Amino acid sequence: NLLLAGRLAVVTGGGSGIGRAVCSVFAREGAKLAVVDLNKKSAEETVALLPQPSDHRAYGTNVALSSEVASMVSQVQEEFGEVPSVAVHAAGITKDNFLLKMDEQAFDDVINVNLKGTYLVNQTLAKAMSKANLPDCSIVNISSIVGKTNYAASKAGVIGMTKTAAKELARFNIRVNAVLPGFVVTPMTDKVPDSVKQMITMMVPCKRMGTPEEIAEVCAFLASSRSSYMTGAAVEVTGGLNF
Ligand code: NAD
Repeated sequence: NLLLAGRLAVVTGGGSGIGRAVCSVFAREGAKLAVVDLNKKSAEETVALLPQPSDHRAYGTNVALSSEVASMVSQVQEEFGEVPSVAVHAAGITKDNFLLKMDEQAFDDVINVNLKGTYLVNQTLAKAMSKANLPDCSIVNISSIVGKTNYAASKAGVIGMTKTAAKELARFNIRVNAVLPGFVVTPMTDKVPDSVKQMITMMVPCKRMGTPEEIAEVCAFLASSRSSYMTGAAVEVTGGLNF
């Protein structure tokens, strides 16, 4: 039996990398998908790649803007005729630099998308889910094991918010967990120079980068009722890498 049969799932960052792999694994497991991305065209491409595209819909949304997140969530409810019971929040950006070289704009941009975006997506969906009184809802936030200054701060914030949201939302049957990917092959890591890639891969006990699908499989378990006693967890999926 399928892990997510008939469940409606919102996946942010669904136009690329980990978010796109989450969409394809979730579709395989029977979910209907609201594929959300800043780049609407890439979200539409994800939908087109899924086995039955007409079961799914694409949304162009900036997760850092409350008005856009609110209208996306109400549009999803209107178009699917139900409240989503699953969300994977994978939208994120990097503008890495060392502390001594970090500029204020890059700091603000990353905190806005990665941290404020998590707040907006979690709050807006949790409001809809709690009102709908569903038996088991699950939100999975994608944090990270690696990163520098602004990125590391944003992703540590995601873990903190996940843990407190889990405590607050348990009474509404909403579970909230974080997945911490290690070093994964996606367009985000494409821009890392080969020499740095090799250096990081050397530090990974499994001696390779992860695939987006390997992250997505863990998200599917956390999204499904098979993880019904897990909430507030920060799950590392890193090939053994930790800092
Ligand atoms: P990616 O760049 O391939 O995909 C990220 C997607 O998010 C893109 O489609 C992008 O358009 C979208 N996005 C960016 N800003 C947005 C916004 N404001 N609103 C809506 N969508 C937005 O990257 P990825 O590697 O698939 O990363 C997915 C998540 O996993 C991110 O949160 C990232 O920080 C995290 N992560 C990635 C790695 C890795 O090694 N690739 C490791 C740890 C954590």
